[in-house]
Amino acid sequence: MIIVLKPDVPRQAPELERLLQLAKSFPGISTEVHRIEGATRSLTEVYLLGPTHAVPTRPFEELEIVEKVVRITQKYRFIGRHDPGLESVGFEHNGVRISQETLTLFPGLCAVDTREHVDQTFAALEAAGIQTARAGAYKPRTSPYDFQGLGKSCLPWVFELAGKHGIRIVTMEVTHEAQIDEIRRALEDSGQPTGVMLQIGTRNAQNFELLRAVGAQTEHPVLYKRGMGITLEESLNACEYVASGGNRRIVFCLRGVKSHLGEPHRNFVDFAHVPVVQRLTRLPVCIDPSHSVGRRGAGADGILDILHVTAQGIIAGANMLLVDVHPRPEVALCDGPQALRLDEIPELVADVGIVRTAYEARRRRAARP
Ligand code: PEP
Ligand code: MN
Repeated sequence: MIIVLKPDVPRQAPELERLLQLAKSFPGISTEVHRIEGATRSLTEVYLLGPTHAVPTRPFEELEIVEKVVRITQKYRFIGRHDPGLESVGFEHNGVRISQETLTLFPGLCAVDTREHVDQTFAALEAAGIQTARAGAYKPRTSPYDFQGLGKSCLPWVFELAGKHGIRIVTMEVTHEAQIDEIRRALEDSGQPTGVMLQIGTRNAQNFELLRAVGAQTEHPVLYKRGMGITLEESLNACEYVASGGNRRIVFCLRGVKSHLGEPHRNFVDFAHVPVVQRLTRLPVCIDPSHSVGRRGAGADGILDILHVTAQGIIAGANMLLVDVHPRPEVALCDGPQALRLDEIPELVADVGIVRTAYEARRRRAARP
């Protein structure tokens, strides 16, 4: 059971103490108080854990400080929406707001290769007015003989260049717990020029130890990429590992699922699940058209498949776009065939703008009485 408090109830309020005592007076019930610093507003929620089916809602609803009491109806205890009225508040990181209301673009390098390419890429983003980027330092590759990423050696100059070009958040995959510390140390040593969102790749979607590790820290938000060969329910349960560890600043990323039915694309595009994840959970939803499509084919209309698929996710309300770009895709050490060129970024931004405007109009229509 979740008890949502009215805004501005301080943690030390005597009424909150009375509420906790009342909750604990029911057999087997323990409580947790969570403060959510959201992008839209801050909330305090009290979680009642244990056999709550025997706990009535009424005595809590009657308390002055309580806004609403929500019974948990699904197993996603921390990420679940449970009730359409339970808000999705999102979060703010290094001045960037990410929620189910917003849309943020994270174009960038699948894998960091040279300083010059990172500089050129961030400069192109800055010119396009974009302050958020992807940059992979640790790459989980299918073959051990493929480029594995530059690892921690590139972090100092990646962060320095992010600061130089006004990039506020870099999303970066981690494949091992130790890398979280490497990132934290490199940020400290370089004077925190940017923020980092830790990415969990599809290959680690059920690496529960890694999920617990990113969940045990609250410094960095987490971008969780859906498992490519597991059900949506299994991926959401995996996400719950992060949230139950204490870190609720999570974005759920759709990146296509493995199926030959998706051919000739690399994966079967699953962006129809954007509104599904938004209604099942309180998480903002990201789409990754690059790893879904995996190639640069264009439709008979001349529009790249990657842009068509991006539009499909955005028209459905996606909140974040993760997309591969590279100054010279032909020499990229990882996923060059799916990278957009830097001179295509303005086209991407314009196309996304058209579709987002259409989505907002659809949303306003749906909200009309
Ligand atoms: C990536 O985004 O760099 C990546 C490896 O993606 P995925 O885990 O979705 O394959
Ligand atoms: Mn990639």
